[in-house]
Amino acid sequence: MTKFSDLEKKLTYSRKNFWNEASKKEQKKAFDFSKGYKSFLDEAKTERESIKFFEKKLENLGFTNFKNNKVYRISRNKNAAIAVIGKKPIADGVNLIVSHIDAPRVDLKQNPLYEDSSIKFGMMKTHYYGGIKKYQWVSTPLALHGVFVKQNGEVVNVSIGEDENDPVFVMPDLLPHLARKAQYTQKIGDAINAGKMNLVFNSIPFKNDDDKVKNAIKLNALHLLNEKYGVIEANFLSAELELVPAGKARDVGIDRSFVLGYGQDDRICAYTSAEAIFNMKDSEKTAIVYLADKEEIGSDGNTGAKSIFIVDFIADLLHHNGEKSDSKTLRKTLIKSQILSADVNAGINPNYPDVHEKENAVHLGFGVSVTKFTGSGGKGGSNDANAEFNAKIISIFNAEKVNWQIGALGKVDEGGGGTIAKFMAEYGAEVIDCGPGLLGMHSLYELASKADIYSSYKAYKAFFEKG
Ligand code: MN
Ligand code: MN
Repeated sequence: MTKFSDLEKKLTYSRKNFWNEASKKEQKKAFDFSKGYKSFLDEAKTERESIKFFEKKLENLGFTNFKNNKVYRISRNKNAAIAVIGKKPIADGVNLIVSHIDAPRVDLKQNPLYEDSSIKFGMMKTHYYGGIKKYQWVSTPLALHGVFVKQNGEVVNVSIGEDENDPVFVMPDLLPHLARKAQYTQKIGDAINAGKMNLVFNSIPFKNDDDKVKNAIKLNALHLLNEKYGVIEANFLSAELELVPAGKARDVGIDRSFVLGYGQDDRICAYTSAEAIFNMKDSEKTAIVYLADKEEIGSDGNTGAKSIFIVDFIADLLHHNGEKSDSKTLRKTLIKSQILSADVNAGINPNYPDVHEKENAVHLGFGVSVTKFTGSGGKGGSNDANAEFNAKIISIFNAEKVNWQIGALGKVDEGGGGTIAKFMAEYGAEVIDCGPGLLGMHSLYELASKADIYSSYKAYKAFFEKG
């Protein structure tokens, strides 16, 4: 007679905890993998810095500008595509993993600097980028990253606040003692007004003999910037300056099983998919990693996933490989392609379990999530992957011993969100969402499990090698 437990094992699905399943050796690999990941998070806090990080790596690994079978292209210093050409014709379809390298943040306005003449502070006006909970960004140390582009085309890189000897910046919140009317009577989303998210920049006036100089504090701010970076106020008008949480990624937990850090949505998938293409064995199909910008504001713009960039890249790959690259061949190539939309999902939060539906939510530590659909309400705005492709991905992960689970974003009608998947699906390719869960997504310090970071890497590598 079959034992109940055997029958249960045979017939039921349950997600598996990586820390129970993995050997000591495998667990050590997960820990070691996260070290490289953390230094990437420290070095690459913006989309531009991410591109710089990967460009260095690509050069070292022998990737070229269409000179051999390992190629890459960077567009406008903000997005990139990396490919390893396989043995089969590219026109048979490619295996592509797309992630995004932008993250929610607070930008400086184009004309940001002003002097508060009554309080005697130099201040900077800001404009937030992406879906942030504004209250998380006040009264916390911020670093300033970005570029000034001068009218002669010279690009001046800025990074202030990451070195421990650097100053940092802050947008001071209101003290609780006086917040009763201004904040406590408001809804949480309105309690911090975007117009009050101004940054303290300086307070010492430019030293001068003439007391009548107006705006001496603002002038001193410009003087210090000019000394350090050679810029003038007009250069702010053509600058991209981003405020991000200052400081490094850290281990979390007495067992160090988690990583806490800024911008893991979605640099966790950028890093793991890039490592997958760098370390994969020779494959039949052409493998492509696409690192997109602008996902957090809807994938618009010419560096976002809605742009023609990736299609143009694949056309050039066809040509480079000696294949036809006319419009019809390109369309057919895209339709035959398989795409993982590599983005994070919402892990079930022990403090707010009620917004999730436990059986269908992502559990941290249980591996990479295969997410059939995202969207909101009745699957609105979702790609909703085909069951056939879903099954194929699951079978590859099972064969390659990837720790994986299924995952939906939250309870139906609780809220929602989307990824790049639906834009990729417009090409007619098979697309499914696949990435790790995070807690505190879009906060300054997102939490990821080392088990899931490593499982994502293994999943992406398996997809390239066997997909
Ligand atoms: Mn994302
Ligand atoms: Mn996001």
